[in-house]
Amino acid sequence: MIGINENSTTDELVASARQSMSLNFRQAPIVFMRGQGVHLFDRNDKRYIDFVSGIAVMGMGHSHPRIVEAATKQARELWHVSNLYFNEAQILLSNMLSDRYGDGRVFLCNSGAEAVEAALKLARRYAFVKHGDTKRNEFVSFEKSFHGRTLGALSATGQPKYHTGFEPIIPGFKYARFNDIESVKELVNSNTCAVIVEPIQAEGGLILPQPGFLSAIKEICEERGALLILDEVQVGSGRTGTFFAYEQEGVKPDIVTLAKALGAGIPIGAMIANQEASIGFQPGSHGSTFAGNALAARIAQVFLEVMEEENLLGHVQEVGAYMGKELNALCERFDCLDSARGRGFIWGLAFNKEWAPETVALAMKKGLLVNKLNTHTIRLLPPLISERSHVDAALAILANCLTEISNKPPGDGNIR
Ligand code: PLP
Repeated sequence: MIGINENSTTDELVASARQSMSLNFRQAPIVFMRGQGVHLFDRNDKRYIDFVSGIAVMGMGHSHPRIVEAATKQARELWHVSNLYFNEAQILLSNMLSDRYGDGRVFLCNSGAEAVEAALKLARRYAFVKHGDTKRNEFVSFEKSFHGRTLGALSATGQPKYHTGFEPIIPGFKYARFNDIESVKELVNSNTCAVIVEPIQAEGGLILPQPGFLSAIKEICEERGALLILDEVQVGSGRTGTFFAYEQEGVKPDIVTLAKALGAGIPIGAMIANQEASIGFQPGSHGSTFAGNALAARIAQVFLEVMEEENLLGHVQEVGAYMGKELNALCERFDCLDSARGRGFIWGLAFNKEWAPETVALAMKKGLLVNKLNTHTIRLLPPLISERSHVDAALAILANCLTEISNKPPGDGNIR
Protein backbone atom coordinates (compact mmCIF):
# COMPACT_ATOMS: atom_id res chain seq x y z
CA MET A 1 0.00 0.00 0.00
CA ILE A 2 1.19 3.50 -0.78
CA GLY A 3 1.66 5.60 2.38
CA ILE A 4 -0.71 8.54 1.99
CA ASN A 5 -1.89 11.47 4.02
CA GLU A 6 -3.63 14.81 3.52
CA ASN A 7 -0.55 16.23 1.81
CA SER A 8 -0.45 13.51 -0.84
CA THR A 9 -1.15 14.47 -4.44
CA THR A 10 -4.47 13.61 -6.05
CA ASP A 11 -2.71 11.02 -8.21
CA GLU A 12 -1.31 9.37 -5.10
CA LEU A 13 -4.70 9.33 -3.40
CA VAL A 14 -6.36 7.86 -6.47
CA ALA A 15 -3.61 5.23 -6.79
CA SER A 16 -4.15 4.31 -3.15
CA ALA A 17 -7.92 4.18 -3.61
CA ARG A 18 -7.47 1.81 -6.55
CA GLN A 19 -5.61 -0.54 -4.22
CA SER A 20 -7.60 -0.29 -1.02
CA MET A 21 -11.19 0.24 -2.12
CA SER A 22 -13.61 -2.41 -3.33
CA LEU A 23 -13.55 -2.88 -7.11
CA ASN A 24 -17.26 -2.45 -7.81
CA PHE A 25 -17.23 1.26 -8.78
CA ARG A 26 -15.73 3.03 -11.79
CA GLN A 27 -14.74 6.36 -10.26
CA ALA A 28 -13.32 9.17 -12.35
CA PRO A 29 -9.92 10.27 -10.98
CA ILE A 30 -11.22 13.37 -9.20
CA VAL A 31 -11.15 13.86 -5.44
CA PHE A 32 -13.72 16.39 -4.30
CA MET A 33 -13.10 18.55 -1.28
CA ARG A 34 -16.07 20.87 -0.97
CA GLY A 35 -19.35 21.91 -2.49
CA GLN A 36 -21.26 25.16 -2.59
CA GLY A 37 -24.72 25.45 -4.13
CA VAL A 38 -24.62 23.83 -7.58
CA HIS A 39 -20.83 23.69 -7.64
CA LEU A 40 -18.24 21.15 -6.53
CA PHE A 41 -14.54 21.87 -6.04
CA ASP A 42 -11.71 19.36 -6.34
CA ARG A 43 -8.36 19.36 -4.51
CA ASN A 44 -6.91 21.90 -6.96
CA ASP A 45 -9.96 24.08 -6.35
CA LYS A 46 -11.14 23.47 -9.89
CA ARG A 47 -14.86 24.24 -10.04
CA TYR A 48 -17.45 21.94 -11.60
CA ILE A 49 -21.14 22.54 -12.25
CA ASP A 50 -22.69 19.54 -10.55
CA PHE A 51 -25.47 18.27 -12.83
CA VAL A 52 -25.15 14.79 -11.34
CA SER A 53 -26.15 15.93 -7.83
CA GLY A 54 -24.72 12.79 -6.24
CA ILE A 55 -27.08 10.87 -8.58
CA ALA A 56 -30.29 12.74 -7.85
CA VAL A 57 -29.47 13.38 -4.22
CA MET A 58 -28.37 16.97 -3.58
CA GLY A 59 -31.74 18.68 -4.05
CA MET A 60 -30.77 21.69 -1.94
CA GLY A 61 -27.36 21.81 -3.57
CA HIS A 62 -24.19 21.61 -1.50
CA SER A 63 -23.81 23.21 1.92
CA HIS A 64 -27.23 24.86 1.98
CA PRO A 65 -27.15 27.07 5.11
CA ARG A 66 -30.47 25.77 6.47
CA ILE A 67 -29.40 22.15 6.07
CA VAL A 68 -25.98 22.81 7.57
CA GLU A 69 -27.59 24.61 10.50
CA ALA A 70 -30.08 21.79 11.10
CA ALA A 71 -27.37 19.14 10.86
CA THR A 72 -25.06 21.02 13.21
CA LYS A 73 -27.77 21.65 15.79
CA GLN A 74 -28.94 18.04 15.70
CA ALA A 75 -25.36 16.75 15.83
CA ARG A 76 -24.88 18.69 19.06
CA GLU A 77 -28.09 17.30 20.57
CA LEU A 78 -28.77 13.70 19.52
CA TRP A 79 -27.63 11.31 16.82
CA HIS A 80 -29.12 7.90 17.39
CA VAL A 81 -31.28 6.03 19.86
CA SER A 82 -32.47 2.91 17.90
CA ASN A 83 -36.05 1.87 17.32
CA LEU A 84 -36.51 0.68 20.87
CA TYR A 85 -37.56 4.31 21.47
CA PHE A 86 -38.78 7.30 19.49
CA ASN A 87 -36.85 10.41 18.58
CA GLU A 88 -38.56 13.70 17.81
CA ALA A 89 -37.20 14.17 14.29
CA GLN A 90 -38.43 10.78 13.03
CA ILE A 91 -41.93 11.54 14.31
CA LEU A 92 -42.06 14.96 12.63
CA LEU A 93 -40.65 13.57 9.39
CA SER A 94 -43.03 10.60 9.33
CA ASN A 95 -45.93 12.93 9.95
CA MET A 96 -44.93 15.16 7.04
CA LEU A 97 -44.46 12.21 4.67
CA SER A 98 -47.73 10.64 5.77
CA ASP A 99 -49.54 13.89 4.98
CA ARG A 100 -47.79 14.32 1.65
CA TYR A 101 -48.95 10.87 0.63
CA GLY A 102 -52.32 11.18 2.35
CA ASP A 103 -52.93 9.12 5.47
CA GLY A 104 -49.88 6.92 4.91
CA ARG A 105 -47.81 4.84 7.28
CA VAL A 106 -44.11 5.50 7.00
CA PHE A 107 -41.22 3.10 7.40
CA LEU A 108 -37.95 5.02 7.48
CA CYS A 109 -34.76 3.29 6.36
CA ASN A 110 -31.30 4.13 5.05
CA SER A 111 -31.24 3.79 1.26
CA GLY A 112 -33.29 3.27 -1.86
CA ALA A 113 -32.67 -0.46 -1.99
CA GLU A 114 -33.85 -0.79 1.59
CA ALA A 115 -37.02 1.15 0.83
CA VAL A 116 -37.66 -1.23 -2.07
CA GLU A 117 -36.91 -4.28 0.10
CA ALA A 118 -39.40 -3.01 2.67
CA ALA A 119 -42.03 -2.51 -0.03
CA LEU A 120 -41.53 -6.02 -1.44
CA LYS A 121 -41.65 -7.58 2.01
CA LEU A 122 -44.75 -5.61 2.97
CA ALA A 123 -46.55 -6.68 -0.21
CA ARG A 124 -45.79 -10.37 0.39
CA ARG A 125 -46.73 -10.15 4.02
CA TYR A 126 -49.93 -8.22 3.28
CA ALA A 127 -51.16 -11.10 1.11
CA PHE A 128 -50.23 -13.50 3.90
CA VAL A 129 -51.90 -11.50 6.70
CA LYS A 130 -54.96 -10.43 4.73
CA HIS A 131 -55.81 -13.59 2.86
CA GLY A 132 -53.64 -16.23 4.55
CA ASP A 133 -52.61 -16.65 0.94
CA THR A 134 -49.13 -18.09 0.63
CA LYS A 135 -49.47 -18.55 -3.14
CA ARG A 136 -49.95 -14.85 -3.73
CA ASN A 137 -46.24 -14.13 -3.47
CA GLU A 138 -45.22 -13.15 -7.00
CA PHE A 139 -44.20 -9.75 -8.30
CA VAL A 140 -44.55 -8.21 -11.70
CA SER A 141 -41.79 -5.77 -12.49
CA PHE A 142 -40.58 -4.34 -15.81
CA GLU A 143 -37.85 -4.91 -18.34
CA LYS A 144 -35.19 -2.16 -18.13
CA SER A 145 -36.25 -1.30 -14.60
CA PHE A 146 -33.84 -0.55 -11.79
CA HIS A 147 -34.71 -1.00 -8.11
CA GLY A 148 -31.37 -1.43 -6.34
CA ARG A 149 -28.61 -3.90 -5.57
CA THR A 150 -29.75 -5.91 -2.56
CA LEU A 151 -31.02 -9.34 -3.58
CA GLY A 152 -34.75 -8.55 -3.42
CA ALA A 153 -34.40 -5.21 -5.19
CA LEU A 154 -31.99 -6.81 -7.66
CA SER A 155 -34.52 -9.54 -8.41
CA ALA A 156 -37.12 -6.85 -9.12
CA THR A 157 -34.64 -5.17 -11.47
CA GLY A 158 -35.48 -6.25 -15.02
CA GLN A 159 -31.98 -5.98 -16.46
CA PRO A 160 -30.14 -9.30 -16.82
CA LYS A 161 -26.73 -7.58 -16.80
CA TYR A 162 -27.20 -6.79 -13.11
CA HIS A 163 -28.12 -10.42 -12.31
CA THR A 164 -25.05 -11.99 -13.93
CA GLY A 165 -23.03 -13.94 -11.40
CA PHE A 166 -25.52 -13.36 -8.60
CA GLU A 167 -27.97 -16.07 -9.57
CA PRO A 168 -30.14 -17.58 -8.43
CA ILE A 169 -32.10 -14.39 -7.99
CA ILE A 170 -35.11 -14.58 -5.69
CA PRO A 171 -37.91 -16.60 -7.29
CA GLY A 172 -41.28 -15.03 -8.04
CA PHE A 173 -40.37 -12.09 -10.29
CA LYS A 174 -41.78 -11.66 -13.80
CA TYR A 175 -40.99 -8.77 -16.11
CA ALA A 176 -43.56 -6.98 -18.23
CA ARG A 177 -42.63 -4.41 -20.91
CA PHE A 178 -42.81 -0.74 -19.95
CA ASN A 179 -45.53 1.10 -21.88
CA ASP A 180 -47.04 -2.20 -23.04
CA ILE A 181 -50.19 -2.67 -21.00
CA GLU A 182 -51.01 -5.98 -22.70
CA SER A 183 -47.81 -7.47 -21.30
CA VAL A 184 -48.95 -6.39 -17.83
CA LYS A 185 -52.36 -8.00 -18.34
CA GLU A 186 -50.68 -11.23 -19.37
CA LEU A 187 -48.55 -11.44 -16.22
CA VAL A 188 -50.71 -10.14 -13.36
CA ASN A 189 -52.85 -12.91 -11.94
CA SER A 190 -54.15 -14.32 -8.66
CA ASN A 191 -50.59 -15.20 -7.61
CA THR A 192 -49.38 -11.61 -7.92
CA CYS A 193 -48.99 -9.80 -4.62
CA ALA A 194 -47.73 -6.59 -6.22
CA VAL A 195 -46.67 -4.80 -9.36
CA ILE A 196 -43.58 -2.65 -8.88
CA VAL A 197 -42.81 0.10 -11.36
CA GLU A 198 -40.83 3.34 -11.64
CA PRO A 199 -43.03 6.25 -12.74
CA ILE A 200 -40.16 7.17 -15.08
CA GLN A 201 -37.59 4.50 -15.91
CA ALA A 202 -34.43 6.35 -15.03
CA GLU A 203 -31.44 4.00 -15.02
CA GLY A 204 -33.06 2.08 -17.90
CA GLY A 205 -32.51 5.05 -20.25
CA LEU A 206 -34.90 7.81 -19.13
CA ILE A 207 -38.12 6.34 -20.47
CA LEU A 208 -41.30 8.30 -19.77
CA PRO A 209 -44.63 6.52 -19.29
CA GLN A 210 -47.13 6.97 -22.06
CA PRO A 211 -50.20 8.92 -20.90
CA GLY A 212 -52.53 6.58 -19.02
CA PHE A 213 -50.01 3.73 -18.68
CA LEU A 214 -49.62 3.96 -14.90
CA SER A 215 -53.34 4.39 -14.29
CA ALA A 216 -54.04 1.37 -16.50
CA ILE A 217 -51.61 -0.66 -14.32
CA LYS A 218 -53.46 0.55 -11.24
CA GLU A 219 -56.77 -0.62 -12.70
CA ILE A 220 -55.35 -4.07 -13.43
CA CYS A 221 -53.98 -4.27 -9.88
CA GLU A 222 -57.34 -3.34 -8.39
CA GLU A 223 -59.20 -5.78 -10.59
CA ARG A 224 -56.85 -8.68 -9.73
CA GLY A 225 -56.18 -7.94 -6.07
CA ALA A 226 -52.51 -6.96 -6.38
CA LEU A 227 -50.88 -3.97 -4.72
CA LEU A 228 -49.25 -1.23 -6.77
CA ILE A 229 -45.75 -0.19 -5.65
CA LEU A 230 -44.32 2.93 -7.26
CA ASP A 231 -40.56 3.20 -6.88
CA GLU A 232 -39.87 6.92 -6.58
CA VAL A 233 -36.38 6.56 -5.15
CA GLN A 234 -34.96 8.54 -8.06
CA VAL A 235 -37.85 10.62 -9.38
CA GLY A 236 -39.57 11.41 -6.07
CA SER A 237 -38.85 14.09 -3.46
CA GLY A 238 -39.48 16.91 -5.94
CA ARG A 239 -37.24 15.96 -8.84
CA THR A 240 -39.99 16.10 -11.48
CA GLY A 241 -41.63 19.26 -10.10
CA THR A 242 -44.20 17.57 -7.88
CA PHE A 243 -43.26 15.93 -4.62
CA PHE A 244 -44.25 12.52 -5.97
CA ALA A 245 -43.86 11.99 -9.71
CA TYR A 246 -47.13 10.02 -9.66
CA GLU A 247 -49.08 13.20 -8.89
CA GLN A 248 -48.67 14.08 -12.57
CA GLU A 249 -50.24 10.76 -13.58
CA GLY A 250 -53.42 10.86 -11.49
CA VAL A 251 -52.46 7.60 -9.77
CA LYS A 252 -52.01 6.92 -6.08
CA PRO A 253 -50.03 3.76 -5.34
CA ASP A 254 -50.63 1.46 -2.39
CA ILE A 255 -46.95 1.75 -1.57
CA VAL A 256 -44.34 4.31 -2.60
CA THR A 257 -40.60 4.30 -2.02
CA LEU A 258 -38.35 7.33 -1.57
CA ALA A 259 -34.63 7.88 -0.86
CA LYS A 260 -31.92 9.88 -2.68
CA ALA A 261 -33.04 13.57 -2.51
CA LEU A 262 -35.09 13.00 0.64
CA GLY A 263 -32.01 13.31 2.85
CA ALA A 264 -30.40 16.32 1.14
CA GLY A 265 -27.16 14.30 1.10
CA ILE A 266 -27.52 12.18 4.23
CA PRO A 267 -28.44 8.49 3.72
CA ILE A 268 -32.15 7.98 4.32
CA GLY A 269 -35.00 6.17 2.62
CA ALA A 270 -38.71 5.83 3.22
CA MET A 271 -41.47 3.43 2.34
CA ILE A 272 -44.96 4.87 2.64
CA ALA A 273 -48.00 2.61 2.46
CA ASN A 274 -51.73 3.14 2.74
CA GLN A 275 -53.50 1.98 5.90
CA GLU A 276 -54.78 -1.19 4.26
CA ALA A 277 -51.43 -2.43 2.92
CA SER A 278 -49.75 -1.42 6.19
CA ILE A 279 -51.47 -4.22 8.10
CA GLY A 280 -48.84 -6.50 6.56
CA PHE A 281 -46.31 -5.30 9.12
CA GLN A 282 -46.72 -5.88 12.80
CA PRO A 283 -44.14 -5.43 15.57
CA GLY A 284 -41.19 -7.64 14.70
CA SER A 285 -42.00 -8.22 11.02
CA HIS A 286 -39.34 -5.88 9.75
CA GLY A 287 -36.64 -3.59 11.08
CA SER A 288 -33.30 -1.84 10.78
CA THR A 289 -30.95 -0.51 13.44
CA PHE A 290 -30.36 2.88 11.82
CA ALA A 291 -33.91 3.37 10.47
CA GLY A 292 -35.20 6.80 11.44
CA ASN A 293 -31.84 7.81 12.89
CA ALA A 294 -32.29 11.20 14.57
CA LEU A 295 -29.61 13.02 12.57
CA ALA A 296 -30.79 11.72 9.20
CA ALA A 297 -34.45 12.28 10.03
CA ARG A 298 -33.84 15.88 11.16
CA ILE A 299 -32.05 16.74 7.96
CA ALA A 300 -34.84 15.23 5.85
CA GLN A 301 -37.46 17.03 7.93
CA VAL A 302 -35.74 20.38 7.42
CA PHE A 303 -35.31 19.64 3.71
CA LEU A 304 -39.08 19.18 3.42
CA GLU A 305 -39.69 22.39 5.37
CA VAL A 306 -37.34 24.42 3.17
CA MET A 307 -38.87 22.86 0.07
CA GLU A 308 -42.26 24.17 1.21
CA GLU A 309 -41.07 27.60 2.38
CA GLU A 310 -39.05 28.30 -0.75
CA ASN A 311 -41.62 26.87 -3.18
CA LEU A 312 -38.96 24.59 -4.56
CA LEU A 313 -41.51 22.53 -6.50
CA GLY A 314 -42.75 25.61 -8.37
CA HIS A 315 -39.13 26.50 -9.06
CA VAL A 316 -38.36 23.03 -10.47
CA GLN A 317 -41.44 23.23 -12.68
CA GLU A 318 -40.44 26.62 -14.04
CA VAL A 319 -36.70 26.16 -14.52
CA GLY A 320 -37.19 22.49 -15.52
CA ALA A 321 -39.51 23.57 -18.36
CA TYR A 322 -36.89 26.09 -19.45
CA MET A 323 -34.23 23.39 -19.35
CA GLY A 324 -36.39 21.09 -21.48
CA LYS A 325 -36.86 23.86 -24.04
CA GLU A 326 -33.13 24.56 -24.17
CA LEU A 327 -32.26 20.86 -24.47
CA ASN A 328 -34.70 20.54 -27.34
CA ALA A 329 -33.02 23.53 -28.96
CA LEU A 330 -29.69 21.67 -28.63
CA CYS A 331 -31.28 18.68 -30.38
CA GLU A 332 -32.30 20.98 -33.26
CA ARG A 333 -28.81 22.39 -33.46
CA PHE A 334 -26.72 19.20 -33.35
CA ASP A 335 -27.22 16.37 -35.83
CA CYS A 336 -25.66 13.89 -33.40
CA LEU A 337 -28.56 14.40 -30.96
CA ASP A 338 -31.71 12.40 -31.23
CA SER A 339 -33.99 13.58 -28.43
CA ALA A 340 -34.29 15.11 -24.96
CA ARG A 341 -36.55 13.22 -22.58
CA GLY A 342 -37.51 14.17 -19.07
CA ARG A 343 -39.50 16.29 -16.65
CA GLY A 344 -38.58 18.93 -14.13
CA PHE A 345 -34.92 18.37 -13.29
CA ILE A 346 -34.37 14.87 -14.63
CA TRP A 347 -33.38 14.77 -18.28
CA GLY A 348 -31.88 12.25 -20.65
CA LEU A 349 -30.16 13.50 -23.78
CA ALA A 350 -30.02 10.79 -26.42
CA PHE A 351 -27.44 10.65 -29.20
CA ASN A 352 -27.91 8.82 -32.47
CA LYS A 353 -24.27 7.71 -32.08
CA GLU A 354 -22.37 6.04 -29.25
CA TRP A 355 -21.08 9.38 -28.04
CA ALA A 356 -22.30 9.42 -24.43
CA PRO A 357 -19.03 8.26 -22.77
CA GLU A 358 -16.91 10.71 -24.73
CA THR A 359 -19.27 13.59 -24.01
CA VAL A 360 -19.29 12.86 -20.28
CA ALA A 361 -15.47 12.75 -20.18
CA LEU A 362 -15.04 15.95 -22.17
CA ALA A 363 -17.69 17.82 -20.17
CA MET A 364 -15.88 16.84 -16.99
CA LYS A 365 -12.63 18.31 -18.32
CA LYS A 366 -14.50 21.50 -19.12
CA GLY A 367 -16.03 21.71 -15.63
CA LEU A 368 -19.46 20.12 -16.04
CA LEU A 369 -20.54 16.90 -14.34
CA VAL A 370 -23.17 14.81 -16.12
CA ASN A 371 -23.29 11.02 -16.35
CA LYS A 372 -24.12 8.41 -18.93
CA LEU A 373 -27.03 5.99 -18.78
CA ASN A 374 -25.78 3.96 -21.72
CA THR A 375 -23.52 4.50 -24.73
CA HIS A 376 -26.21 6.63 -26.40
CA THR A 377 -27.68 8.60 -23.50
CA ILE A 378 -26.41 11.06 -20.93
CA ARG A 379 -28.40 12.12 -17.89
CA LEU A 380 -28.66 15.58 -16.38
CA LEU A 381 -29.77 15.87 -12.76
CA PRO A 382 -29.32 19.47 -11.61
CA PRO A 383 -29.73 20.27 -7.93
CA LEU A 384 -33.34 21.37 -7.43
CA ILE A 385 -32.18 24.88 -6.51
CA SER A 386 -30.51 25.44 -9.92
CA GLU A 387 -31.34 28.72 -11.62
CA ARG A 388 -31.70 29.44 -15.34
CA SER A 389 -28.17 30.86 -15.29
CA HIS A 390 -26.81 27.49 -14.13
CA VAL A 391 -28.75 25.69 -16.85
CA ASP A 392 -27.38 28.15 -19.41
CA ALA A 393 -23.82 27.69 -18.17
CA ALA A 394 -24.12 23.89 -18.20
CA LEU A 395 -25.67 23.71 -21.64
CA ALA A 396 -23.07 26.12 -23.05
CA ILE A 397 -20.36 23.67 -21.92
CA LEU A 398 -22.33 20.79 -23.37
CA ALA A 399 -22.73 22.61 -26.70
CA ASN A 400 -19.00 23.24 -26.67
CA CYS A 401 -18.33 19.53 -26.16
CA LEU A 402 -20.71 18.54 -28.93
CA THR A 403 -19.08 20.99 -31.37
CA GLU A 404 -15.65 19.66 -30.49
CA ILE A 405 -16.65 16.00 -30.77
CA SER A 406 -18.57 16.55 -34.00
CA ASN A 407 -15.58 18.33 -35.57
CA LYS A 408 -13.02 15.68 -34.63
CA PRO A 409 -11.87 13.63 -37.58
CA PRO A 410 -12.64 9.92 -37.08
CA GLY A 411 -9.78 7.77 -35.79
CA ASP A 412 -7.99 10.46 -33.76
CA GLY A 413 -8.33 8.71 -30.45
CA ASN A 414 -11.97 9.26 -29.74
CA ILE A 415 -14.28 6.28 -29.42
CA ARG A 416 -15.88 6.49 -32.88
N1 PLP B 1 -34.83 2.46 -7.05
C1 PLP B 1 -34.55 3.31 -8.04
C2 PLP B 1 -35.62 3.72 -8.98
C3 PLP B 1 -33.24 3.80 -8.20
O1 PLP B 1 -32.96 4.63 -9.21
C4 PLP B 1 -32.25 3.38 -7.29
C5 PLP B 1 -30.87 3.85 -7.43
O2 PLP B 1 -30.46 4.37 -8.43
C6 PLP B 1 -32.61 2.50 -6.26
C7 PLP B 1 -33.91 2.07 -6.16
C8 PLP B 1 -31.58 2.04 -5.27
O3 PLP B 1 -31.25 3.10 -4.42
P1 PLP B 1 -29.91 3.02 -3.52
O4 PLP B 1 -28.77 3.14 -4.46
O5 PLP B 1 -30.06 4.18 -2.58
O6 PLP B 1 -29.94 1.72 -2.81
